[in-house]
Amino acid sequence: MSFHNSTAAVASSFIDAYTGTDFSSLSWLEQQWVAWYVWVGNPIIATGLMSFLMHELVYFGRCVPWIIIDSMPYFRKWKLQAGKVPSAAEQWECTKQVLFTHFTVELPLIWLFHPTAEGLGMHTYHVPFPTVKTMIPQLLFFFVFEDFFHFCAHQALHIGPLYKHIHKIHHKYSAPFGLAAEYAHPAEVFILGAGTICGPLLACFFTQLHIVTVYLWITLRLFQAIDAHSGYDFPWSLHNIIPFWSGAEHHDFHHMAFVNNYSTSFRWWDRICGTDKKYQEYRAKIQASKNAMKNASKEQVKAMEAKLMAEVEAEGIRAEKAAEVGKVE
Ligand SMILES: [Zn+2]
Ligand SMILES: [Zn+2]
Repeated sequence: MSFHNSTAAVASSFIDAYTGTDFSSLSWLEQQWVAWYVWVGNPIIATGLMSFLMHELVYFGRCVPWIIIDSMPYFRKWKLQAGKVPSAAEQWECTKQVLFTHFTVELPLIWLFHPTAEGLGMHTYHVPFPTVKTMIPQLLFFFVFEDFFHFCAHQALHIGPLYKHIHKIHHKYSAPFGLAAEYAHPAEVFILGAGTICGPLLACFFTQLHIVTVYLWITLRLFQAIDAHSGYDFPWSLHNIIPFWSGAEHHDFHHMAFVNNYSTSFRWWDRICGTDKKYQEYRAKIQASKNAMKNASKEQVKAMEAKLMAEVEAEGIRAEKAAEVGKVE
């Protein structure tokens, strides 16, 4: 069969799948979904285009509020490393590198996703969408799976040559900002991206999964990653409501101290494995100093925090040098 004939066969077979569907019972979004697939005429191209555009829109869309917040001095009181606000030049430099990896690494991978997913039985052009009741346990599984995968793979990336040749790029910023979430070596995007994608691929073996659930997962995962790099901890940040949620307060320390806090979404693996010891000590020190400085001015408290941060960062620079030559600290 020629390429043209096989493409035509795929196109006609997927349109046949809509036979017998009661379109009037579908939601507005489901109707647009069908219209998109029918208009493109080829599910591989339709999914590939939609996935890439969705990823770009969500990634940069989520970064915009953080760029605005960085430009407004009002928000500095919630900045974790107050003295380190990214310049416009740094944000632009980071955007260029992120766009480069999006087009060179993520675009081909996203394109391959549809044939792989469909081969494993994932629903794509199908309607209706799954119910919320079906989606919630699947999303929880993706979160827990990715968090554990990232916890292990991220620690491996801190070892000697892997750090020196791959992960060092992501650690360029000791005080991260939203756009820096995917600022990484292409190999790192591939390695750590596997944690995000393998959960849905594995799920296909034991449950019926729809790509719309995967889109929801990718959106939540991008929000998680960008917010964790934002550099801000607000009183309403998620970890202040759900104590085991990692958030910026957890990951910012990883960038500042170079060690500890390797997970993405949850704090439990770092706590169980003791890879948050330095982080806990640091938090305790800050709290003890604050208690001892009850009558001090805001400036004096800020100066104390800046001093403790500088100590942690100096220790981090030493730890990074040691990691590069293969020493484990
Ligand atoms: Zn790291
Ligand atoms: Zn990071």
